[in-house]
Amino acid sequence: MVSNRDVDNLDHLGLPAHITACLFDLDGVLTDTASVHAAAWKEAFDSFLRARATSEKAAFAPFEIASDYPQYVDGKPRLTGVRDFLESRGITLPEGEPDDPPSADTVNGLGNRKNVIVLRRIHDDGVTVYDGSRAYLHAAKRLGLRRAVVSSSANTASVLHITELEHLIEERVDGVTIVREHLKGKPAPDTFLLGAKRLSAAPEQAAVFEDAIAGVAAGHAGGFGFVVGVDRIGNGHADELRAAGADVVVTDLSQLLGSLADSELFVSEEDDLTDSVPRADESRSA
Ligand SMILES: [Mg+2]
Repeated sequence: MVSNRDVDNLDHLGLPAHITACLFDLDGVLTDTASVHAAAWKEAFDSFLRARATSEKAAFAPFEIASDYPQYVDGKPRLTGVRDFLESRGITLPEGEPDDPPSADTVNGLGNRKNVIVLRRIHDDGVTVYDGSRAYLHAAKRLGLRRAVVSSSANTASVLHITELEHLIEERVDGVTIVREHLKGKPAPDTFLLGAKRLSAAPEQAAVFEDAIAGVAAGHAGGFGFVVGVDRIGNGHADELRAAGADVVVTDLSQLLGSLADSELFVSEEDDLTDSVPRADESRSA
């Protein structure tokens, strides 16, 4: 077992020494849900685009996960993602109302269509937590770093609950907060700034962990002390994250832990032993 004193003498979890708070994006950083969202967006947009192509007797050009998702949708609030993708195709739809049915061809309707699909997929398939991210949260907690989740997703609370990450997170700024407090979503830095404030950290004392271009851009725009880009997809995404302002790019948070990744650092006297890093077959829950 590693003692607190040992922890203090170890590397600062891959972060500059002045960092006191960590602001984690959820989908794609802590949980393997970016791919779930991407697939749900494709299903929602393709049904719309296919029907539109048929009615206009035009060719159907599907939503491309490899290019459209990172460019126009990933990391943004849901309705911003709808608008930005449609704009890229030269399509303007009425805004509609928040309670529009998923079948409605409005910005809100398409957003609701995507949300119904993503909730169904999460329900059916569960949510996987990246082992390296769970280990990092434990290590950050042991080191006394403050921890918040800052996500555009309106489903953040339920995902944190079903993945049992709740007790590792102190504060949450999410899609519900954005609406309630009239915040600008990513790529604006507002949600991260609120996350830092709630952790009593100045922006320069906080590190942002993001897998989306919009999220890294938000971290850069907010003047945060360190921006960790997380590249889960390859295909030049790391370069895009660096160009958007990432100070370092990793493919998994375990890379920031170095040799700690394999230690029992994050299992302590305080932590319930059931709270140790789960084996891969235990990390899926729903
Ligand atoms: Mg993300």
